[in-house]
Amino acid sequence: MITQLPITVRPAQQETVTSYVRRLAALHAVPYADLWKHLSAPPRYGGTSKRRGIIVAERLAAATGRPLSQLERAMPELRDPAPDWRQLRHLPQRACPNCTARHSGGAVVRLFAHHEFVCTRHGYWIGPPLPTAPDLPPRQLARLVPELVAAQRHHTKLLRHRGWQHVFNAFEVCIAVCIDQRFYEPLEAPLRRCWQQRIDQLIPTRSWFNTSVFLAAFYPEIVNLARLFCTPDWRDIARQALSSADARQVIAAEISRVIGREPRPLLGLPRFDGHPRSGDLGSPGGCPASWRAWGRSDRGRGGRSRLSSRPRSSSCVSGVTARLGRSRRISI
Ligand SMILES: [Zn+2]
Repeated sequence: MITQLPITVRPAQQETVTSYVRRLAALHAVPYADLWKHLSAPPRYGGTSKRRGIIVAERLAAATGRPLSQLERAMPELRDPAPDWRQLRHLPQRACPNCTARHSGGAVVRLFAHHEFVCTRHGYWIGPPLPTAPDLPPRQLARLVPELVAAQRHHTKLLRHRGWQHVFNAFEVCIAVCIDQRFYEPLEAPLRRCWQQRIDQLIPTRSWFNTSVFLAAFYPEIVNLARLFCTPDWRDIARQALSSADARQVIAAEISRVIGREPRPLLGLPRFDGHPRSGDLGSPGGCPASWRAWGRSDRGRGGRSRLSSRPRSSSCVSGVTARLGRSRRISI
């Protein structure tokens, strides 16, 4: 029999179950591991005694006194059927502190869609974290670079018009194009100066360096360029560019026009064929390949990162929960 906890707490939207249980434990001054054990059952898949139990949704509902339907709406991991994990990043991260200020008990950690980079209300940067780095508290980067907010609005609008898969692919390509461009653009070129100015504002000293924040310096141009690569005509030309020098020239000229770079030949488009790429999109919460590539250089001893060693499947997030009907019933 599960006893109802005395302090009632609502889950935040898109919050992870781990985050919610952690906040509940903090508010009731009980060890997190003990509360987790109380609300969970051993995994069905033959785990050892060391494997963490999985949360039983009905127990969580009984302990919090909240309807299961309400918990399901807030926390994707509890939904049955499961959400389309491909549309979410596979790494949960801290939410905008202002948006979640009314949720007590500690920082809210939630799942984000691939296109969510800036809280447009409060200006906090919520770009994807690196698997190999700790999830740092979000910073209000839009105070330093106000154009980030407009870029996020364009990004969201693009998603509504073109669908998340085209935007996801286009964004991946445009990260590579813009970062590459930074190293080839002459120092005195306006675009290079603009990016450098933003980098200096966002990362004033080396100790402040963070790859996610570095990306923010390029975000407006990446979104601008992604609009181009989301259109059917330019996706077609991008496909031709894989084998045609003429098509590469056409694209190079258009990229120069869109982001205002110095005209120069395009050395090559990074593996873009204009179609959803099953390699990235087929795995739940797949993040842009170029983003993962940056993380590789940060891997620690043994060549395995702390978080990327977690399974890249829906078990990354949904494996923490189970429905009572599908798990062993235990009376506590
Ligand atoms: Zn906010």
